[in-house]
Amino acid sequence: MGGSTLLKESGPREVFCGLTSIVWLHRRMPDAFFLVVGSRTCAHLIQSAAGVMIFAEPRFGTAILEEKDLAGLADAHEELDRVVKDLLRRRPEIRTLFLVGSCPSEVIKLDLGRVAERLNELLRGKVQVLNYSGSGIETTFTQGEDGALKALVPLMPITKSDQLLLVGTLANAVEDRLISLFNRLGIERVVSLPPRQSTELPAVGPGTKVLLAQPYLTDTARALKDKGAQILQAPFPLGIEGSRLWMEAAAKAFNINATLVSSTLDPLILRAHKAIEPFRTQLEGKRIFLLPESQIEIPLARFLHRECGMELIEVGVPYLNREMMQPELDLLPKGTRIMEGQHVENQLDRVREKQPDLVVCGMGLANPLEAEGISTKWSIELVFSPIHGIDQASDLAELFSRPLHRKALLNQNQLANA
Ligand code: SF4
Repeated sequence: MGGSTLLKESGPREVFCGLTSIVWLHRRMPDAFFLVVGSRTCAHLIQSAAGVMIFAEPRFGTAILEEKDLAGLADAHEELDRVVKDLLRRRPEIRTLFLVGSCPSEVIKLDLGRVAERLNELLRGKVQVLNYSGSGIETTFTQGEDGALKALVPLMPITKSDQLLLVGTLANAVEDRLISLFNRLGIERVVSLPPRQSTELPAVGPGTKVLLAQPYLTDTARALKDKGAQILQAPFPLGIEGSRLWMEAAAKAFNINATLVSSTLDPLILRAHKAIEPFRTQLEGKRIFLLPESQIEIPLARFLHRECGMELIEVGVPYLNREMMQPELDLLPKGTRIMEGQHVENQLDRVREKQPDLVVCGMGLANPLEAEGISTKWSIELVFSPIHGIDQASDLAELFSRPLHRKALLNQNQLANA
């Protein structure tokens, strides 16, 4: 351990549920459809979360469980069959249908695995029906992606070929760039999960080395390991240092010559350091408090401290997978306070007491904190933004400098008007 202070708390939580990840997953796989089996609240959540971004055509919907469904499972099954048949008739382009469980479907113990099995028999391979849970009882918002990807793993064909598998949704342009860099390093076969079409799943097997692009894919990583893949241990590709170490882990696993790695990455690193400098000037010495929500808090904290010079007051994380996070924990300064879980009231008390310069938190907490004069950054924005890789490090730093810059301008205006 890099000397962090690992603490735990539990109590009331203020986080989005796993349904939220549908917002980026449906963009990634346009031939898939995500059918939430839930309540009007679930439908509302998805619509408002998706409304944050602009999309041409929604590839998600909600099969609403009415009160009579909640009273008896028979009605719920019939209703679900009817909704699925109707949907597939209207949308013949759908190749993969994810049935996504919610709090209500879990409360009535609707077995979506059995529903998926029955529908698969009925549809006979024309459409793959899978299921996973996005329920707020069990998941925070990024865990929805873990559930969806884990559901895809059993469908992946087996291969013995040597290949690098990148796991976790990345912006397409960022992914293209990373793949071209790996190719330049001499890693010829680089595949991705999720793929860009749900029907083009990569193969997996003993020759597959996995690099996780996101830190919230614990169950997916385990399922890939069970299929013979090797999970590479590395920090995550956020910031210059994390991205370099992440790429170096792959290079090492493929026995790539260290000189080739340096000659390929060093010019990018030099350029990225120059690009980040103006933001570092703004962020250096500022105090940040990260509330738990997205599960990317620890890699972000590492980047903000080591590359932007910020002081870490507390780093909250919904859950801590120590094995996966070890390379990140090793890079944090000694004594970093890491809080696993949440008691939102206690956490807000600590925020008020410490008066940080910036708080990373969920949308629900941002407005009240701003009203108290504390600058915030929505954690969900970080999941939607293309922030991975060496080239993106300055964009990542800018996302944090923006609210501070805004506050400085507001203060100047207030002084001028006083
Ligand atoms: S799954 Fe649960 S937490 Fe998520 S919107 Fe539905 S009811 Fe709310």
